[in-house]
Amino acid sequence: MTQVAGVAAMDAAVFTSSDRLRRLEKELRAARRELKRKDKELAAKEEELQALFYTVSHELKTPLISLRGFSSLLQEFHAGSLSQEGRNYLDRIVRNVDQMEQLINSLLVFSRIRVGYEEMEPVDVKELLEESIWELQYLIRETGGRVEAATELPVVYGNRNQLLTVFVNLIGNGLKYARQDVTPVVQVGYAGDEIFHKFWVRDNGVGIPPRGRERLFKMFSRLGNKGGVEGSGLGLAIVKRVVENHGGEVWVRSRRNVGSCFYFTLARRPGRVTRTVTRERGEGK
Ligand code: ADP
Repeated sequence: MTQVAGVAAMDAAVFTSSDRLRRLEKELRAARRELKRKDKELAAKEEELQALFYTVSHELKTPLISLRGFSSLLQEFHAGSLSQEGRNYLDRIVRNVDQMEQLINSLLVFSRIRVGYEEMEPVDVKELLEESIWELQYLIRETGGRVEAATELPVVYGNRNQLLTVFVNLIGNGLKYARQDVTPVVQVGYAGDEIFHKFWVRDNGVGIPPRGRERLFKMFSRLGNKGGVEGSGLGLAIVKRVVENHGGEVWVRSRRNVGSCFYFTLARRPGRVTRTVTRERGEGK
């Protein structure tokens, strides 16, 4: 090849590769636009679903209130005219009404968690934990358990009520899913770095079977380890939603008959951190 022909061949190669680069850049831009559009669509669908949850749970509350009212009247004034079997049936109705009320209340909480950062403020986690323990006082008394909190706790930037729900749910679960004849002890720990606050809620309970872990944070998922414990299967879905709303992640490590440790992070500046997908982590503490 002559020198001139060689230069011409090189020019052509540069031309085709820069052409290719331009085409790839164009494709990338189009893909990004499409992703943005899909993201928007998904957010709109989620909001619609949330609104539906809210309406349905709200509407269900009214008949439930009369169901509760009439069953109480029956229990209070007419129990004497019922047979033992009839009274047992009535007790079951009341227990189911309680359960349904719990479920509807959780659904209302879930549907009220709005994705966004507009209602955030500095929140003292020490105060938040005191409030959580106060809310859980009956469960603490009932289970004979105790809650131990780290002495160094930060002030985070977030939505106070949403974060309260996270601690109440995680600590409550640590107390509820206890091993028989083992006093439940729930420890709340903290460590932080420049970008995230990292918390953990560790218990000495029944542990979580590995097979259930991938659906743990989904709505209405209750696993085979729940024993007789009542619940709605919404607590961890609420936790996940709130944590993601604060630019963080939640995951669990657990060993059967040893206990579980739920970790979660909160972004120091929630608006600036891209939301990440909740990850599941393997066995072991
Ligand atoms: P609920 O407690 O109302 O059932 P959650 O969403 O809080 O709903 O929990 C879902 C399921 O995960 C529970 O039913 C239970 O099987 C399991 N689980 C949650 N937390 C714990 C825990 N700390 N230890 C053992 N199992 C747990």
